[in-house]
Amino acid sequence: MPVKLIRIEKKGPALKRTQFGCLSDVHTLNVTRGCEFRCSYCYARGYSHSPAEGLVLLYSNLPGKIRSELDSPRRRTPVQHVAFNTASDSFQRHPDILKVTYDSMKQILDHGIRMSFLTKGWIPDRFIELFSSFPALVTAGIGLVSISPHYRQIFEPGAATAQERLANIERLRSAGIKPHVRIDPIIPFYTDDERGIRALFHELAKRGVEQVVLSYLHLRPAILKQLKRELPSTTYRLLAGCYKTQDVIEVGTSTKTKLCPLILRQKGYDRFKRLAKDYGITCLICACKNPDMAGQRCLRPSPADNKIPGGPEQLSLFPC
Ligand code: SF4
Repeated sequence: MPVKLIRIEKKGPALKRTQFGCLSDVHTLNVTRGCEFRCSYCYARGYSHSPAEGLVLLYSNLPGKIRSELDSPRRRTPVQHVAFNTASDSFQRHPDILKVTYDSMKQILDHGIRMSFLTKGWIPDRFIELFSSFPALVTAGIGLVSISPHYRQIFEPGAATAQERLANIERLRSAGIKPHVRIDPIIPFYTDDERGIRALFHELAKRGVEQVVLSYLHLRPAILKQLKRELPSTTYRLLAGCYKTQDVIEVGTSTKTKLCPLILRQKGYDRFKRLAKDYGITCLICACKNPDMAGQRCLRPSPADNKIPGGPEQLSLFPC
């Protein structure tokens, strides 16, 4: 379905401070409301303030707002880290979205502030050039669950191809930035079989990826409706059946959700960890999305994490 873009003005503050898991004390910023990638499992599509299907709202005044907020003498809380597009994607393909995103990121970096993003899109060259001037300030995340084109076709139809996302990893690394890879959401019985995991790890290891963050799909009532509408009926029935007896709980924020059954997650994460060893990859379990298991906080890498052997020298990313 083609997406219609509508430009609007952001009324409230552009930079908002959050207090949730890995994002605690980080400022967040969304360039759009809605996302043209239209992943069938997308939580943000189920939010009450999400635009109607097929619409993306672009905050076209963001770069100017960011500049005046950062330069304001009245600002009390210093901005140390900005996480981009927590409910959308930074690298949607529409040129107007990319322009506002570029100008916003440049504002943040020109002010010497750290920034992070997680994307399932293709990162255009001019962004890579920008990031290469600030490697110590940029934390880049690539979302990649499977390299199967069939998976992408039914779960992430608007996102970049697996090959494009793998190329992002190579291009970021050559710009002095070591991206982390997020395998999220793992779809039970669909993307957690040994063959699929090995195929993904093989491609990641070839590109020097040493660590991935794992999390299984959460199901929220609004997502169930989306999945029913957009997935092949057998795939939908298998997924819905898997979560059917799970309690609805609150995870982190006040959002009601169902976790994948614990036994399936434990077995699945163990499978990922066992296979990862063959490729020299370490797996972290996302603690924010697995509150009933021991996990790790994943957004903030240690200062050494962005260092590429033989790559340009970088300053420390985070003081902790
Ligand atoms: S890329 Fe992220 S925000 Fe965009 S549709 Fe997919 S899950 Fe939602």
